[in-house]
Amino acid sequence: MMLPRNTLESARQWDGRDMLGEYRQQFLIPKVKETEIIYFTGNSLGLQPKDAGATLERELEDWGRFGVEGHFHARHPWFSYHERLTDGAATIVGARREEVVMMNQLTSNLHFLLVSFYRPHGKRVKILTEHRPFPSDTYALASHIRFHGLDPKQHLVEVQPREGEHTLRTEDILAKIEELGDELALVLFGGVQYYTGQFFDIAAIAEKTHAVGAHAGFDLAHAAGNVPLRLHDWQVDFACWCTYKYLNSGPGSVGGAFIHERHLKSDLPRFAGWWGHDKKTRFLMGPEFNPMPTAEGWQVSNAPVLNMAIHFLSLTQFVNAGMERLREKSLLLTGYAEAVIKEVGAKHGVNLEIITPADPAQRGCQLSVIAHGKGKLLYDRLTQEYVSVDWRAPNVIRLAPVPMYNSFEDVYRFGQALEKCLGGKMNAGNGDRRIMTGE
Ligand SMILES: *Cc1c(COP(=O)(O)O)cnc(C)c1O
Repeated sequence: MMLPRNTLESARQWDGRDMLGEYRQQFLIPKVKETEIIYFTGNSLGLQPKDAGATLERELEDWGRFGVEGHFHARHPWFSYHERLTDGAATIVGARREEVVMMNQLTSNLHFLLVSFYRPHGKRVKILTEHRPFPSDTYALASHIRFHGLDPKQHLVEVQPREGEHTLRTEDILAKIEELGDELALVLFGGVQYYTGQFFDIAAIAEKTHAVGAHAGFDLAHAAGNVPLRLHDWQVDFACWCTYKYLNSGPGSVGGAFIHERHLKSDLPRFAGWWGHDKKTRFLMGPEFNPMPTAEGWQVSNAPVLNMAIHFLSLTQFVNAGMERLREKSLLLTGYAEAVIKEVGAKHGVNLEIITPADPAQRGCQLSVIAHGKGKLLYDRLTQEYVSVDWRAPNVIRLAPVPMYNSFEDVYRFGQALEKCLGGKMNAGNGDRRIMTGE
């Protein structure tokens, strides 16, 4: 892969040729003392699109103008508001329209989907997940196992990395599925692992899971808007994601859910609510639940329109930019960041170990770095240089140059900051996050 040379001039040339370069102008980049920070934490909270305010304003106007009548008379009636998001969401995750719905939030959606897809019976009781999943997922999975009167210590199984390795080999994941065989009820994996940044082979995992007679679900918190996905073709049973990370839809914004077509008309149990009821007869307020024959049938509550308005804006940006083009740029930005980290580490004799897979097909834009002997100190120093990366216990610095608004110059400037941190004294850091808020 051709990458920029590590000079300001070269980085700027690459930005000049970047077909997605204009998107950066559509976002508010946080500043400290008039300097734009290097924002590599879009994997945690995506930046605000400049149009978010005006978008919200329009919804508030309609609420002010129509009151309850806005359900049917707002510019985008609230009754069917979530339908605005369906096409964009389906495009991002590679699904058919009827397979996706935007609703609730991530962990809530995981719970609702587990109700349908984790149904232990006989000896088929186990859930297999990746090594150290995001804690919320562990809590959710363990709570469902307990809810069925079973013991998570026995039945929640993690695939372990090999001795001395940080990420998982696909062959080991598949072997573990095979080994659990008819004791396996469910495989629930991240799409992209939040800690290591590993992009799992979703299709292979789903195929093997089905071969042993279990369901395969994915938490796409770090995958949606980061890597190209084809959930329908990959035969994934279900998935859920959030929209405030790569999808830039604001803190705590609406979540997404996918249910494969083949399950839509099945008799899977589910927890019901009025928004999942057939919309034609919903307001007849009858006592019998008659679910919609699409993923919408899993909705329980009426839609958070204000969050959704911003999500619609963001989806429009993603669809216009195109996941293919975003991915192309992402491979370059992350490849460049990887090269810079290696170069600077070598120059200063510091072992900056990137634990994210080196194979671009097995990662998204995030790189997870263990700074041996420096760790948290380096993170603190980077903060003082106005670089926004994050620290994840026990010992990783995560950085995510996102293709939507990060530039090649950002990566260059990051390299300069890293040089400065490693070149100077490393005892200055005090971990004070107020640096980032200019206080
Ligand atoms: C960010 C993240 C969450 C957060 O869950 P919320 O319900 O949105 O608070 C859960 N799981 C994973 C894998 C995540 O990365």
